[in-house]
Amino acid sequence: MQRRLFIASTNAGKLRDFQAAIDTMDVLLEPLPGMTHIPVPDEDADTFEGNARLKAVAYSLHLPGEMVLADDSGLEVAALGGRPGVYSARYAALEDFANPQSLPADDLNNACLLDRMALATERSARYKCVLAAARDGLVIAIAEGVVEGCLLSEPQGDGGFGYDPLFLLPAWGVTMAELDLATRLTVSHRGQALRALLALLDEQ
Ligand code: IMP
Repeated sequence: MQRRLFIASTNAGKLRDFQAAIDTMDVLLEPLPGMTHIPVPDEDADTFEGNARLKAVAYSLHLPGEMVLADDSGLEVAALGGRPGVYSARYAALEDFANPQSLPADDLNNACLLDRMALATERSARYKCVLAAARDGLVIAIAEGVVEGCLLSEPQGDGGFGYDPLFLLPAWGVTMAELDLATRLTVSHRGQALRALLALLDEQ
């Protein structure tokens, strides 16, 4: 029987990644209905798992009886002690990084990251995604995906979103923003986490 899951995200880049990741699977993954009207829970945990759990629990209460997935993801940079980490989406704001050109959020975060990495020679970084599945406020399964890379000193490629133009995949010789969607999903932290989560749910 085809499994039906709901994903609690309004991030277009994430939704596209998740949809593409299950393209060949017998799974129906739908955006959580009415997401824009549901109060956004405070992502105040200091780990990806903590935030994924609290989001999955909160959102699942809005769709009784259904399995609701929520993720938290971000970039961990070795030279910055793991930052921006759980603060990836609002890194520039937290660093009080000036925005005189009114850059969009992703571009501003990238500019901030390049600034903070200007003198760094150790440029390794990783994307991490933790996905939680919950039903009626109870977490049923948790899975994680990680992809290792290193940071360029200027953006390269215009696909993807967020930090992708700066994130080089050494094994591929291209940035995440230069990969086609199918390849991106085979290597990405989000694709890995989703496949691992579905495997866990299949075991239950
Ligand atoms: P959140 O999971 O919605 O709290 O935000 C995750 C943030 O991490 C995004 O807004 C991006 O800045 C960054 N991020 C997470 N995954 C990716 C990715 O696959 N590509 C680029 N940036 C990402």
